[in-house]
Amino acid sequence: MKYYILFGPPGAGKGTQATSMVERYNLRHISTGELLRKEIKAGTELGLQAKALIEKGCLVPDEVVEGMIESEFNTVKGVDGFLLDGFPRTIAQAQALDQMLAKRNEQLTAVVSIMIPDQMIIDRISHRAAIEGRADDANVDIIKNRIATYHNQTEPEIEYYAKNGKYNEIDGVGTIEEVRDRIFALVDKF
Ligand code: AMP
Repeated sequence: MKYYILFGPPGAGKGTQATSMVERYNLRHISTGELLRKEIKAGTELGLQAKALIEKGCLVPDEVVEGMIESEFNTVKGVDGFLLDGFPRTIAQAQALDQMLAKRNEQLTAVVSIMIPDQMIIDRISHRAAIEGRADDANVDIIKNRIATYHNQTEPEIEYYAKNGKYNEIDGVGTIEEVRDRIFALVDKF
């Protein structure tokens, strides 16, 4: 099985690119953000707790998302691998993922990181707000907090994965097709 992490700041195009990758490599796309939004929509206890944090641009507790990932690993069949999008978002989550994979006698295949500059994050997310109607996309202060959360808590993972040789960076500036082709050129090698 292949295990990929689709990494990058909010608005880098991870969700969009995930669709093409899933098709080409027969992967299961696991977006923790999407799973959390489903819980919110369904009005579950977990959704209620997550909503307050998401709408402030903060992260939900590590255990919550780790449980979601493990449950997907345990239940999804018939794919050649998994594409993690929005997880791991902290070093603690990265370590938890390593443990989950070790327990399954598996290891991470690669991190595919899509990079864009901060100003482009705000422009892209503001544009997406009009299309997808996400509450956390609609307010510039929340977007700024998500960018700060990314720099403080998620970006340190770059060094974590660079050290074990798993980190690969793609330039996320360009058309959807240009970025997709850069990703395919990289992932075809694994
Ligand atoms: P996303 O759709 O990946 O942008 O995620 C939307 C929001 O869900 C984030 O801003 C966080 O509040 C929450 N979230 C998603 N994934 C995680 C994660 N791995 N750890 C903690 N919070 C997360």
